[in-house]
Amino acid sequence: MTVVDVFERTSGPYEDALTRYRASADRLALEPGVRSVLQHPRREMSVAVPLVRDDGRVEMLTGHRVQHNLARGPGKGGIRYSPLVDLNEIRALAMWMTWKCALLDIPYGGAKGGVTVDPSTCSADELERVTRNFVSGIGPIIGPDTDIPAPDVGTDERTMAWIMDAFSTTAGRAVPGVVTGKPLALGGSQGRVSATAHGVAHVADLALKHVGMNHGGVTVAVHGFGNVGAWTATLLHQAGHRVVAVADRFGAVWNGNGLDVPDLRRHVAETGSVFGYGKADPLPTADAVLGLEVDLLVPASVERIIHEGNVRQVRANVIVEGANGPITATAGDMLDDAGVLVVPDILANAGGVVVSYFEWVQAQQGLWWSADEVRSRLDARMTDVWRQVVERASADGTGLRAAAMDRAVARVAEACVARGLGH
Ligand code: GLU
Repeated sequence: MTVVDVFERTSGPYEDALTRYRASADRLALEPGVRSVLQHPRREMSVAVPLVRDDGRVEMLTGHRVQHNLARGPGKGGIRYSPLVDLNEIRALAMWMTWKCALLDIPYGGAKGGVTVDPSTCSADELERVTRNFVSGIGPIIGPDTDIPAPDVGTDERTMAWIMDAFSTTAGRAVPGVVTGKPLALGGSQGRVSATAHGVAHVADLALKHVGMNHGGVTVAVHGFGNVGAWTATLLHQAGHRVVAVADRFGAVWNGNGLDVPDLRRHVAETGSVFGYGKADPLPTADAVLGLEVDLLVPASVERIIHEGNVRQVRANVIVEGANGPITATAGDMLDDAGVLVVPDILANAGGVVVSYFEWVQAQQGLWWSADEVRSRLDARMTDVWRQVVERASADGTGLRAAAMDRAVARVAEACVARGLGH
């Protein structure tokens, strides 16, 4: 079996983030002062993180935490464990968190962190040691009122529990508010694990209706089968749509009649990949998923999956960005010109951080909502913001990304100016 890491990136998510920011600053005619403030990360920390292997060997890793903008509240954003992590990637992701929190009008700034590690090569004990080491490095700049991490690619609620414990041990008291996406036992919220996917599926529904495709049996392809991809596929399948293809790092599978998504997830739980799933045909590459003739395409893996080299193959009518930055700036412009409806990441995948905020709200009140209540509040927030973005796009004659960016950037600019350019 040939294993190809199909998520190998070209380069430059930070260039994409800056290009899109500058375009928005131009449209908004931002004053030069605030324009340059918003372009620069407020605070960055890089730390050396020893990975102590179970056999005692030590490997040195690098970790980062970047706080892009804190004008509207504490930093907020996930921590990513991936071999592809580098400072520029984290800068891009932190900037996108700033816009995402502003667009959804939740009282946070934008931040992101990551460690250059492949979690699939680590035991649970190794990951716990890496996490505790990373937290001791970035400890001085995180906290419930300064910067609040959450899960992202390669991390989950177990990682959040370790972060909370490491931070609390130093503080000498339990500090559950230092992270969101915690297990329920530590004050997590119902529905947080699948929250990003719920938001993606909900917005996909709104987008399909928007283009008049609200009939049953919509065909869907999903690129990425981690937390967001697998849950999105599950929810779309449950909603009666036909998920015909999915891809992960190791392969891609297709079934024209629709995949049995719960059955596929069982295969993935047993083998670690969609590769080799028997009730579907293999596709030659994960890229093949991007070129399928489907109604809806959900890129839910990592950045720069749709780029200048493959964008012309895309045949979907609607794209909903489950991942952050899955379409390069240039490819995004080409899709806009081709009339493809693209729901941008800062709106489409905001469900995760919205429910992170709900976790904080519930903890403040000491009152816990049911899964249904979390979901209906999430749906209501996503629907509101979707409508605001659609209205602005039609008023300004732009695509949805430009409308979402302009709304978000203007809101952060206003906060920075009100504070005398504090960020
Ligand atoms: N990592 C998620 C994102 O990219 C969630 C961040 C959070 O909940 O703080 O939006």
